Amino acid sequence: MGRRDPGDRLSSLDTPSMIVDLDIMEANIARMISLLAPTGVDIRPHLKTTKSPVLAAKLIQAGCKGGCVAKVSEAEVMVDSGIDDIFITCEIVGAPKVARLIELFKRAPRLRIVVDSVPCASAINAALEAAPIPGNPQLQTLIDVNVGQNRTGVAPGEPTLVLARSISALTHLKLIGVHGYEGHLQHVHSRDERKNHCRQAMTVLSQTADLLRANHFDIKTVTTGGTGTAEFCATSRGITEVQPGSFIFMDVDYRNAVGTYFSHSLTILSTVISKPEPRRVVIDAGLKSLTTDSGYSEPKGLPGISYVDNGDEHGSLSWANEGDCGLEVGDRIEMIPSHIDPTVNLHDFYCAHRKGVIEEIWPVATRGKVQ
Ligand code: PLP
Ligand code: MN
Repeated sequence: MGRRDPGDRLSSLDTPSMIVDLDIMEANIARMISLLAPTGVDIRPHLKTTKSPVLAAKLIQAGCKGGCVAKVSEAEVMVDSGIDDIFITCEIVGAPKVARLIELFKRAPRLRIVVDSVPCASAINAALEAAPIPGNPQLQTLIDVNVGQNRTGVAPGEPTLVLARSISALTHLKLIGVHGYEGHLQHVHSRDERKNHCRQAMTVLSQTADLLRANHFDIKTVTTGGTGTAEFCATSRGITEVQPGSFIFMDVDYRNAVGTYFSHSLTILSTVISKPEPRRVVIDAGLKSLTTDSGYSEPKGLPGISYVDNGDEHGSLSWANEGDCGLEVGDRIEMIPSHIDPTVNLHDFYCAHRKGVIEEIWPVATRGKVQ
């Protein structure tokens, strides 16, 4: 069995293994913090990328404010690990999930949730009414506003105001803000186009916040943004918080969109297990190690060699030019994931190293936490 203990070298790891270059990861965190520091906007990183309370704690230590998760089951793990300033960015619907939320809220009074409908908000309020918590704390609630992604979210402007009025009648919820995630813009390749569309979406969001304030709602938080837009959101009027996630590790798809301001800190270490032809080798990383929803992963430091999956367990690296690819059975290749969040979700552990020496092992603690 491949070792994975602090002090070991990467060469002692079995493959495929998910490895993180600590120097690069720390530089990415420092770059995001220093990029946004002049704006005064809070960074509440989305932990759907790292799925790790250890990394959540490192981000908070570096200056971030709490974290976002997608699901209640992820929030449970974070709270169990002492990360309790958590914003759950997916709507919580259905009796089993609402019951879990209420149990979690008892232990984590700083929890924040989103709602985009009266049924969603009133079911949570009714559950709190039916099982009152000592002291009767109100659950911090944000309205999810559709700023153009056309996923969830109530329409901006008047429909958001109508929902806000309904929430104000629900005594166990406290409306504290609006959430408007522009996921459709994150990967727009032209920086100008991404910036201009983002500015428009942010105008819609901050005007909606203003409309609520003009109607006496105390809107403190206006939250939004990912790796592709954080700097534009943070410099748009009225935005108080951004939620980037992928910047900490980066991936091929994001590098193609936002460039190299952040660098690839995470790779999947793999081994060449076969060389069927001079121009092609097979590695032990297929669909179970690297996702393909956003295109193919890339081998690090091997220009001219491209990857395709060969099913669940295998992948091919091919040399486009004449002659031999130069790779041999037993060689170890670092693969840069094409889409970081679902790739992390395929692995049990991170092996974090500095210059090839393993320093820390982190479990992917919210792996599979999709409820
Ligand atoms: N906020 C929300 C609501 C998201 O769904 C996501 C990612 O899907 C993010 C923030 C983080 O975006 P990224 O990982 O692209 O930085
Ligand atoms: Mn993603």
